[in-house]
Amino acid sequence: MARTGQSGVRTARRPKPAPTLGVVSLGCPKALVDSERILTRLRAEGYAVTGSYEAADVVLVNTCGFLDSAKRESLDAIGEAIAENGRVIVTGCLGVEAERIRAEHPKVLAITGPQQYEQVVEAVHAAVPPAHDPIFDLVPPQGVKLTPRHYAYLKISEGCNNRCRFCIIPSIRGDLVSRPIHHVLAEAERLVQAGVKELLVISQDTSAYGVDLKHAPQSWRGRERATRFYELADALGELGIWVRLHYVYPYPHVDRVIELMAKGSVLPYLDIPFQHASPRVLKAMRRPADQGRMLERLAAWRRAVPDLAIRSTFIVGFPGESEADFRLLLDWLEAAELDRVGCFRYEAVEGATANALPDPVPEPVKEERWHRFMQAQRQVSRRKLAAKVGRRLPAILDQVGLETIGRSMADAPEIDGTVRIAGAEDCLPGDIVEVAIAAADDYDLRGERVRAA
Ligand code: SF4
Repeated sequence: MARTGQSGVRTARRPKPAPTLGVVSLGCPKALVDSERILTRLRAEGYAVTGSYEAADVVLVNTCGFLDSAKRESLDAIGEAIAENGRVIVTGCLGVEAERIRAEHPKVLAITGPQQYEQVVEAVHAAVPPAHDPIFDLVPPQGVKLTPRHYAYLKISEGCNNRCRFCIIPSIRGDLVSRPIHHVLAEAERLVQAGVKELLVISQDTSAYGVDLKHAPQSWRGRERATRFYELADALGELGIWVRLHYVYPYPHVDRVIELMAKGSVLPYLDIPFQHASPRVLKAMRRPADQGRMLERLAAWRRAVPDLAIRSTFIVGFPGESEADFRLLLDWLEAAELDRVGCFRYEAVEGATANALPDPVPEPVKEERWHRFMQAQRQVSRRKLAAKVGRRLPAILDQVGLETIGRSMADAPEIDGTVRIAGAEDCLPGDIVEVAIAAADDYDLRGERVRAA
């Protein structure tokens, strides 16, 4: 790049060497979005980002504090960054346990908690001052993304008003704070303009979106839109891309979003963290919704949207879970025929109120239940995927090359299955192709691209 000097002669101007930041981002998609927000700000200030410890002037570790195993992984990642680079700043959910981090890693330069964007940026400034050059340090309008170019997470709120007993998120992130709808939609529009083909809506409780703002209306594209889950899904559906809804609690108003799926504006996919099926266990967990009549609702949703894919997560071995509760869960799983399911063995997370509950389930029993659960769900998954053989399904391509890998509408990136596709070598990542499904295994599909006649 060049710019005109005082003499009127175009003189080349070199950028100053940029201070360089290494980033280790752990945890859930919400933490990933936090990393993206921090990086967007720092890139705008002229920082370069590197994937190598040696090239980094300072390393930022965005930690996860959800489970004890995640905390351990975060502490190990901090240790690795200190050993490899030496200059480390810690942020994210584990940041609320600064003393624990300092006890294990006294050399850490600074520690900040989740969403403390200003404090993280200040800590980076203190460690490596910025060398901003507005001519050279241009950031794309959609910000810095850590996801591939064709999909992006869209975070619509922070925090949560629920108080599930196994979870410490509300104590870390606070009560629900929704982003006004016009801000979310403006970000979505920028992402689409930048080439994003699939938006993944995330939060702690997507169905509760806007409750804290009393669903205040805002103007977008010349129309008033309430800050509300349905209105958001409806408006996102107008962008002409794949819209995938995560962390949806089955409150009654979710039924209206099924109408949007029936007309094809939102993907026929719902990620609903059910966690259990036994009313007794759900009550002990203090879950915001119970599964009473849930099977009937699932059946009604599937009548309206036959291809609706439901993803969920469950916890086995919660304190007080009896064999009868667990069997009820297995029976429910068999009847519900969910498409994609993750299962966790209950872990006592420091600070969670569930720790005070009586009747802990012994570890070997948790382990045995987890295997029975996974075996039962594997059979459901195999059956459901076998029923897709012989059909033609759209798939978005994540990887094109020797092996071309995509995902159907029923598959979110990273957590669900894939479709291996022959005959799509001339396509690009992000292209959506039609695939004739030829084979299925427990979790994934295979097929051949159908070319337009
Ligand atoms: S809904 Fe429950 S599990 Fe989810 S973030 Fe809120 S308190 Fe935690």
